[in-house]
Amino acid sequence: MEERKKKFRESYNEKLEAQEQPSYIDNRIGDKKGQLTVIEYVGTGILNTSEIYHLWRVQCECGNKVILNPQLIQTMVDCGCGSYE
Ligand SMILES: [Zn+2]
Repeated sequence: MEERKKKFRESYNEKLEAQEQPSYIDNRIGDKKGQLTVIEYVGTGILNTSEIYHLWRVQCECGNKVILNPQLIQTMVDCGCGSYE
């Protein structure tokens, strides 16, 4: 689990610029889960299966910002810092 999270974080450039959110996707800004709050839309990513997914910048209570896809937003409760109990 921890290894998976680490790999995920390394796979994204956290300096990605925010992009305008397409109107056809749900607005997740302000969504909260555990220590995480969605703060902005970042853009799309493409999986190996050429499936497109959307990325969101998420702020953890510890101050860290991470970029997550909706699937990870649903499963993660902190940025990986372990501050959520
Ligand atoms: Zn954190």
